[in-house]
Amino acid sequence: MQKQKPYLESFPDNNGYFGKFGGSYIPPSLVEPFNEINEAYNKLSKDFNFLNELKTIRKYYQGRPTPLYFAKNLSTKVDGNIYLKREDLNHTGAHKLNHCMAEALLAKYLGKKKLIAETGAGQHGVALATAAAYFGLECEIHMGEVDIKKEHPNVVKMKILGAKVVPVTKGLKTLKEAVDSAFESYLSDTKNSMFAIGSVVGPHPFPKMIRDFQSVIGFEAKEQFFEMTGKLPDMVTACVGGGSNAMGIFSAFIEDSVELYAIEPAGKGDKIGEHSASITYGKEGIMHGFNSIMLADENGEPAPVHSIASGIDYPSVGPEHAYLNSIGRTKIGLCTDNEAVEAFYTLSRLEGIIPALESSHAIAFAMKYAKEHKEKSILVNLSGRGDKDIDFVIENFPID
Ligand SMILES: *Cc1c(COP(=O)(O)O)cnc(C)c1O
Repeated sequence: MQKQKPYLESFPDNNGYFGKFGGSYIPPSLVEPFNEINEAYNKLSKDFNFLNELKTIRKYYQGRPTPLYFAKNLSTKVDGNIYLKREDLNHTGAHKLNHCMAEALLAKYLGKKKLIAETGAGQHGVALATAAAYFGLECEIHMGEVDIKKEHPNVVKMKILGAKVVPVTKGLKTLKEAVDSAFESYLSDTKNSMFAIGSVVGPHPFPKMIRDFQSVIGFEAKEQFFEMTGKLPDMVTACVGGGSNAMGIFSAFIEDSVELYAIEPAGKGDKIGEHSASITYGKEGIMHGFNSIMLADENGEPAPVHSIASGIDYPSVGPEHAYLNSIGRTKIGLCTDNEAVEAFYTLSRLEGIIPALESSHAIAFAMKYAKEHKEKSILVNLSGRGDKDIDFVIENFPID
């Protein structure tokens, strides 16, 4: 009998499909440039020099491996066993640099001079601007005017890092228009520029590429967990916006008997516009160039979404998440705005770690789960630090 190919090699297929999800739904003018990226990635993902350079950057510039930490006080409080993978200690304070450095390295190998991307809350923009500075590449970040006002500190950071922030004034002046604007700019010079997507979303090969770049989280954590406990965790959990930090940590455990919980933002209610729980409330549909489960309005357009954490208020989800959920390999957990804020304070006060509001969703779920499964060990991806959220939290949810 032939040995089955490992999951990560079999998914996605050559056209970028995870089952029926994924693919590439793009205008003809983008087909050629995306093929170039795909072919380059296929080659470089097996290239010793590329992989070695990435490894060196991760170790000496980013500070990897990030620690795995047994959260003793938090575990005592819920009478369970909670471990944190500390992506908040990655340079720039979140997991996003894992894929931004790799995308920029790819651009360098392709001889590109400029990185182009859109950003919503600005987190991807800051990470990409950091990578661009490192490699001496130009960086152009498209951002809706509404978001520019809302996310002032990130805009300042991008500028300090040398990136050009392009304000987008069309339509609702938020992420959707920023995506269009960034694509337009990319199309005007695909020879010298590279489009750098910020999560496991978008057309093929991005969901695969970003997952592979983020899988370092899972493979490190698996080894560290085994070293610490002699076993694998019983459950692994992470918050899901587009889904990159979750796919990053899940990748290493897909073929193990480990429960995987993807946590969606339940926001402040279950009506359209009150949450961004795409898999929980959405249906199959195409947006931003890929087929997945999305939240749509009556016209099939992306619906308005809400989460207290601006990094996870996305009206769709990476196609691999849609697929893994459809076959029952992952389960979905929900976390409301209020539960996330409570977890934000709990972790800060019990462990001296201020988590990002995004990551707080996974912490909240882990605490709930731990109370119901006292014997089980839980691995949480702490995707980022909460410095960016402190003003908002203290103004809107003051406690003494
Ligand atoms: C952007 C971000 C997220 C959400 O992105 P994913 O692609 O779903 O991982 C989660 N946590 C932090 C800290 C972020 O900055």
